[in-house]
Amino acid sequence: MSPPSSGAPSPIWHPFTQHGLGEECPLVESAQGSLLHCRDGRALIDGISSWWVVTHGHCHPPIVTAIRDQAERLDQLIFAGFTHEPAERVARGLLRLTDAHLPSPDPLAHMFFSDSGSTCVEVALKMALGYWHHRARRSGESEARHRIVVMEHSYHGDTIGTMSVGARGVFNHAYAPLLFDVTSIPYPSAGREQATLDALEAACRAPEKPAALLVEPLVLGSGGMLFYGPATLRAMAQICAAHEVLFIADEVMTGWGRTGTLFACQQAGVVPDILCTAKGLTGGSVPLAATLCRAKIFDAHLSRDRADMFFHSSSFTANPIACAAAAANIAIWESEDMAARLAAIGAGLEAHVAALAAHPAFENVRRLGTIAALDLKVGGGAGYLSEAAPGLRAFFLERGLLLRPLGNTIYVLAPYCTDAAQFDRIFAAIGEAGERFGA
Ligand SMILES: *Cc1c(COP(=O)(O)O)cnc(C)c1O
Repeated sequence: MSPPSSGAPSPIWHPFTQHGLGEECPLVESAQGSLLHCRDGRALIDGISSWWVVTHGHCHPPIVTAIRDQAERLDQLIFAGFTHEPAERVARGLLRLTDAHLPSPDPLAHMFFSDSGSTCVEVALKMALGYWHHRARRSGESEARHRIVVMEHSYHGDTIGTMSVGARGVFNHAYAPLLFDVTSIPYPSAGREQATLDALEAACRAPEKPAALLVEPLVLGSGGMLFYGPATLRAMAQICAAHEVLFIADEVMTGWGRTGTLFACQQAGVVPDILCTAKGLTGGSVPLAATLCRAKIFDAHLSRDRADMFFHSSSFTANPIACAAAAANIAIWESEDMAARLAAIGAGLEAHVAALAAHPAFENVRRLGTIAALDLKVGGGAGYLSEAAPGLRAFFLERGLLLRPLGNTIYVLAPYCTDAAQFDRIFAAIGEAGERFGA
């Protein structure tokens, strides 16, 4: 179809886009490192890693090579009853990595492939319900658990299932009649952590016992880059363990170094029963996701009865090309000093964050690992549909930056190859935005 520059309107319906506003939609022809190269000649700094996925940089050479080599050898394979080398490498590598970073006497021992963050969370929910279903049936427990406990302001995806476990609001108002009921505990804002733990304890003691707690560890991404501390995460995991409630960590955004460590859970010394990873699994090059679980969850589905199997698949489960990209990413994490790279980015961001901390236009200036965020003080509505967001987006675009504020929350979540000069440009523009848009 015609690209936008030819004049004919594109038939594409873009995600999270109000086409009625006629906002600019640049056509990007290539990307390298932290830069997006547009057809009109502009180069944009990708300050949000193309929606939080790109970790090492766009078109990172070892990952591109792995994709190219694999595409020539084996492009796609049915994954029921068949396997292939790239999938085996990813599975072993991922479990080796998690065992090194999340050591446990009862480690994450199995993994299931899917294609996106939403689907790996769906898989996690189905694993949890499957676990309780088979357990109840075998032990003669009266009823299988199926209630899910979630945290206020969470985001886990846009399918019906993942919308059900995410924050309710303008995003899913139209679909609310189809969403299933969950128990929500408050977000543990600073000083209010005990309220969260009390609510979780109460949920675990309720007559209807929960099957699982599902949380984004340490950072609620789409909820507005809201941070909470590792002690709270750890206490939540302990409450779950005490009540035999499965602890599911959605590390789709936080994984692969975003919070300064491979996974956020490791900062709390927490090994979840189920861990979801997607976005950065392939270095953000091609879609792939995985749901890792402890042995007891796999074992609950293990018998000689075909009715007990895990009834989930998608056409492209463990696509070999995607797996080759993920294997290349895992090799980077196992051979390069990622901790030093993340620490250097964190230190650079910290200096910028400190410089903006006293800026009168901003509040809640914060950083965790490679994520920096601040809230623009706006008159009128905050929140996702804040009038500030589209104006800010255009303002940054004019300055050669891809930044996409969440309502009045401006955040930087750049690829790890972003250099000091590029961060300087990003934060200079943010300071300028404060002057222009701050209340
Ligand atoms: C992005 C995100 C998802 C959904 O991932 P998709 O690949 O967009 O389906 C799920 N959970 C969290 C925490 C996310 O940030």
